[in-house]
Amino acid sequence: MHRAMRTLLRLGPTALAAAVVAACSGGDPASTAANASGPLAGAGGQPIDWAAADSETIRHFQALVRMDTRDPPGIEKPAADYLVNALRAEGVEVQTYALEPNRPNVVARIKGNGSKRPLLILGHTDVVNIDTTKWKHGPFSAARDSGWIYGRGAVDDKDNVTASLMTMLLLKRQGITLDRDVIFLAESGEEGSTRVGIQFMVNQQFPAIDAEYCLAEGGSVTRVGGAVRYASVATTEKIPRAIALTAKGTSGHGSVPLEANAVLRISAAVAKFASWRPPVRLNETTREYFTRLATISPPERAARYRDIVSGNPARVAAADEYFRKNEPRHASMLRTSISPTIVNGGYRVNVIPSEATATLDVRMLPDDDSTAFLELVRKVVNDPNVDVSYARRDVRPGTPAASLSSEVFRAVEAATTSVYNTTTLPTMLTGATDMAYLRAKGMECYGIGPATDEEDGPLGYSAHSDQERILETELARFVRFQYELVKGIAAAKTAVERP
Ligand SMILES: [Zn+2]
Repeated sequence: MHRAMRTLLRLGPTALAAAVVAACSGGDPASTAANASGPLAGAGGQPIDWAAADSETIRHFQALVRMDTRDPPGIEKPAADYLVNALRAEGVEVQTYALEPNRPNVVARIKGNGSKRPLLILGHTDVVNIDTTKWKHGPFSAARDSGWIYGRGAVDDKDNVTASLMTMLLLKRQGITLDRDVIFLAESGEEGSTRVGIQFMVNQQFPAIDAEYCLAEGGSVTRVGGAVRYASVATTEKIPRAIALTAKGTSGHGSVPLEANAVLRISAAVAKFASWRPPVRLNETTREYFTRLATISPPERAARYRDIVSGNPARVAAADEYFRKNEPRHASMLRTSISPTIVNGGYRVNVIPSEATATLDVRMLPDDDSTAFLELVRKVVNDPNVDVSYARRDVRPGTPAASLSSEVFRAVEAATTSVYNTTTLPTMLTGATDMAYLRAKGMECYGIGPATDEEDGPLGYSAHSDQERILETELARFVRFQYELVKGIAAAKTAVERP
């Protein structure tokens, strides 16, 4: 059982607020509250009552988790209506944009003085499907148990939606003077129907969300044994592609083996990827990621992270080999990677088929040359009877990484230090997010997220798992982080230094 789970009791709102304050660096409620309202010019008068804000966070979060927004079919309307009402009730300008009536996107805006271009914060209201039989607490129960809240979307992505909602409400209530507009987009369709969500907004409603920077899901804060270890901030991501292998052969009777058997040819082609090592190439994000990770890792692991950025071919190869066996996500971060995922061929036992196919899931480095990579794969297959070509896939655009020296990245690091007291790791995601569409429009996007326990993954509680949960204290702390971050980026006279 989880250590934190044993020690955390069911918390009422006041105890929850106290726990969150204690969890924040500084630990002193008075100084945290003072920081939150800030010494900035233009900041609103009264310090935020965080105890009240934390219980409000829980209330909005539970309400959103209780809405069945499974995608497919993806009926996000109740969640969208909820957000519209909550924002409008406090005078925040809000509008919906819908390609399909049941699947609206919500856009709220708090205006700044226009001296800087807007900041966009976003989250998605849809969730992935569920196997109801696997859930101890109902997937739409938002049940509170021993300090956790359970439900589909708890960490993907109703946490980000709730934090963005709270950030907007708090900015509005505090009357913070802003240098730039802050725009909140609650999008539909992220989980597989981006056509009604981000694609619709980017392609047909872009002026409503146009911004210089964006903050979205994709990052996380990792806790081990209940203690925060580091914060990952997504600054770039790999691009999903698919390569199809098609083997041709001679058909015939299974009783007479043929060397030109298409099943043998496709098998030999696929098997080559077991030992092939696509070339290693670092970029600004991954180089910085491994360099910083080395500074917070135990000596043996740290040595491997330093090896990977050493530029010494033997040391790189040894660390890569270790990653492939023991830290496969790190191996993927080093290169354009290939996972064979589908093999098809034949239809009955006594017929040698004339064709067999395989599909490779390719995750390209964002700046890789797709034509050259395909040529490389052809050389690896090295069989004129096997055709190698790109297959159809919902291709996200390849885009430059978000800068590690922008004012927003610096603000992320500052808020991470002040709220989580930990190291920020700029991260290249191996998977794909909606940020790719926004980066393609020239926005600099950073992926952020709340703290989760590393132990929760193997226990089956992470995003898309058969159960999903978040610690109440960490949800509340994430709201503080996001509020402080957004204020740091958008509040007037951001140059004022904190003591
Ligand atoms: Zn998500």
